[in-house]
Amino acid sequence: MSDPFEVKKSGYGWAVFDRRTRNKVSPQVSSLRAAEDFCRDLNREARRRLRPCLCCGSPFLSEGPHNRMCDRCRRGADPFDRRQGLSA
Ligand SMILES: [Zn+2]
Repeated sequence: MSDPFEVKKSGYGWAVFDRRTRNKVSPQVSSLRAAEDFCRDLNREARRRLRPCLCCGSPFLSEGPHNRMCDRCRRGADPFDRRQGLSA
């Protein structure tokens, strides 16, 4: 699973590139660290997408591929939720 953005050398500095289009998406900076910070933010944004919930189908803001159910369904699917067990 690769991130859509990566830091590469650009001239005498560093910049963030889109892996798919190979376009430079940040200004060239002299600090590798600054470029990496920017890259991390872009990758985080790219992973946060509005996805339909696997369970009920309503769209929600997913944090990533591991996150495919909305909050309500995740709570409902929680094995430690004892709402049903209490009355037994
Ligand atoms: Zn749901």
